[in-house]
Amino acid sequence: MVYLDNSATTKMYEEVYEAMLPFLLREYGNPSSKYYAQANTSKKAVEESRLQLSSLLGTSTDEIIFTSGSTESNNMIIKGVADFYSEKGNHIITSVAEHPSVLETCEFLESKGYRVTYLETDRYGRVDPKSVEQEICQDTILVTIMWGNNELGSLNNIEAISNICLQSGTFFHTDATQVVGKLDFSLEDYPGISFMSCSAHKFHGPKGIGAVYIKKDQYGIPTPITPLLHGGGQEKEIRSGTLAVHNIVGMGKAAKVTEQNLKNNIRRLIENEEYLTGLLNNKFGDAISFNSDIKDKIPGILNVQFKGINNELLLKQLAPYVAASTGSACSSSKPSHVLAAAGYSHEEIRSSIRFSMSSMTTKEELTVFNEL
Ligand code: PMP
Repeated sequence: MVYLDNSATTKMYEEVYEAMLPFLLREYGNPSSKYYAQANTSKKAVEESRLQLSSLLGTSTDEIIFTSGSTESNNMIIKGVADFYSEKGNHIITSVAEHPSVLETCEFLESKGYRVTYLETDRYGRVDPKSVEQEICQDTILVTIMWGNNELGSLNNIEAISNICLQSGTFFHTDATQVVGKLDFSLEDYPGISFMSCSAHKFHGPKGIGAVYIKKDQYGIPTPITPLLHGGGQEKEIRSGTLAVHNIVGMGKAAKVTEQNLKNNIRRLIENEEYLTGLLNNKFGDAISFNSDIKDKIPGILNVQFKGINNELLLKQLAPYVAASTGSACSSSKPSHVLAAAGYSHEEIRSSIRFSMSSMTTKEELTVFNEL
């Protein structure tokens, strides 16, 4: 059986599991407590993880806030900016192809009186940076556009969008959940990105832990936002709640292993994507077509249309051999909003499947497609 649902979640690295174990048993101190050894050990471990994650992302350690994952990170930034800057304006720009944790947060804010522009996308779910520029107005307080699309794998032109936001003095948030570990980038090179979300389980860390990057200004002050969670004031008063030390340690370790192997892993993903494309073409020929673009994409994600075949039935039949998904929390009444926005018909969406690899995926595993 080959696991090709890595955009949904990944297998933890062995090293991550090993690093987490002590913090589930012996080292149970609260990092916010003081003086005694277990508290200090936990605090040190949290700060070491913050360093490991900031090194992978190219940020300062004090720009990283741990959260429970990208859903929380996206909610925190969008609601936090909307509330804090409500005097300045009430307009938010996003795209129709965002993850539901962005889209539904925006819809919630609309119900509270904010104005949201949902930018259309091209056939691959990408936003035209010019449309961002056109929509920014005096009232715009936030642009939130994902870096890489979870269903199609397409990359947005984040450099252009972040530059537009920088020049117009508009905050820019990007949901980078799908690109961490699959794209070699450093946030240092993107001064226009004010906020970024990520989740550890998408790069071989544990589930239930993520982070936000909150850019600090030239005086070292983090961009202020209203906290989503009020309480004990952990994480610089931005995200209250006792820190999940074991999960944070796991995320840090996953970031470290990811950084050490990044270039090789990306190369392997590109090779394996080519290999899988060849296998699928040989096996299915004209019976399939590829929804994903061939360039400017996250390596290892292929969205494939099996013409005339119902995707749910196909996934069920494939399940003993291939673990994959339709790419969205798709129910019979709610087909993929991303593919719909990209212009695919109901029929085409209903016959599309996403195969998503990780650096752990091997060519040998992929040959299962020859045996189907
Ligand atoms: N954004 C994107 C692009 C995602 O793919 C996901 C996970 N499917 C999320 C946000 C939410 O992440 P989590 O479930 O870890 O909160």
